[in-house]
Amino acid sequence: MLTLTELKSLLATPQKIVITTHHKPDGDAMGSSLGLYGYLIQKGHHVKVITPTDYPVFLHWMPNNSDVIIFTEQQEKSAKLVDEAAIIFCLDFNTLSRINELGELVRTASAKKVMIDHHLEPEDFDDYRNWDINACAAAQLVYDFIVNQMEDEKGINKDVATCLYTGIMTDSASFRFPLATSNVYRIAANLIDLGAEHWKIHQLVYDNASEDRLRFLGYCLSNKLEVFHEFNTAIITVTKEELAKYHSATGDTEGVVNYALSINGIRLAALIVERTDKVKLSLRSTGDFPANEICKKYFNGGGHRNAAGGASEKTLTEVIEEFKSILPEYKSQLIV
Ligand code: 5GP
Ligand code: MN
Repeated sequence: MLTLTELKSLLATPQKIVITTHHKPDGDAMGSSLGLYGYLIQKGHHVKVITPTDYPVFLHWMPNNSDVIIFTEQQEKSAKLVDEAAIIFCLDFNTLSRINELGELVRTASAKKVMIDHHLEPEDFDDYRNWDINACAAAQLVYDFIVNQMEDEKGINKDVATCLYTGIMTDSASFRFPLATSNVYRIAANLIDLGAEHWKIHQLVYDNASEDRLRFLGYCLSNKLEVFHEFNTAIITVTKEELAKYHSATGDTEGVVNYALSINGIRLAALIVERTDKVKLSLRSTGDFPANEICKKYFNGGGHRNAAGGASEKTLTEVIEEFKSILPEYKSQLIV
């Protein structure tokens, strides 16, 4: 274990630091990572952000994005950096399986490991953690780390504020989820004061679609949406061929599930996508319906109560049937 005092004294002199986050990073994964990166480089540390895989182009505009190393593209370099690091920050995940092959490299590395995360049931691999499931984003906890633990609000420059705002905005679905508390709004307001241009960030993330992506969304809504009114559930399913037809790129399916959830009365929505190696599920729910429980119990996954995911080795058709067959078990919670 590492105390905050020990971590602070370690960070008082320049260190070799690696920041990593979960595979297929989303806005919070990249926002928290690049936010912390922007903070640490100002202090003279030698820092690298290593992502396990690539991530959506609508996140590539973020400050310092060009410094990110993608593990699958630079495995040897990544392994060397992990091996030589004095500190590894693990952001927006809490089990090493979420970072694919990087997981075992991080586990066996001699570095001190710092977990900054807001997911349930953390694995015990870290030396220090800022972990809170009531945080709406890992970026909120990076803010807390800098302001309250490092006592260094001045370290939040425009770049850092921009990244942290992005993480909070995306993980709270634009400040819509219950965890977007008044305190989160205060943090967001402070980040705006510190330089985050909220209107520009919103535009860069949400109004930045390719024509293909928008037509794909239209196709999903017109042709692939199924509503099960007796269970207040809606699903959208997508085949490999459909992804290919619309030249789907990393991130192009992100947000699609929210449209299914936006139907009046729907409590549970799922996007079920046939990827090259497996079938991936994205679940969203409203109120206290535990989407993560379904993912954990049936689809080797997990996540938050209202936003969870999982995967299956079965065929798309089998997964769709399995999902439908589960609904009666949850009927009493779905019909309220
Ligand atoms: P998304 O639907 O956006 O891919 O994921 C929503 C949330 O579900 C993520 O923030 C993450 O917490 C969780 N999640 C998604 N996929 C998985 C998975 O395969 N395993 C686990 N444990 N959590 C997942
Ligand atoms: Mn997150």
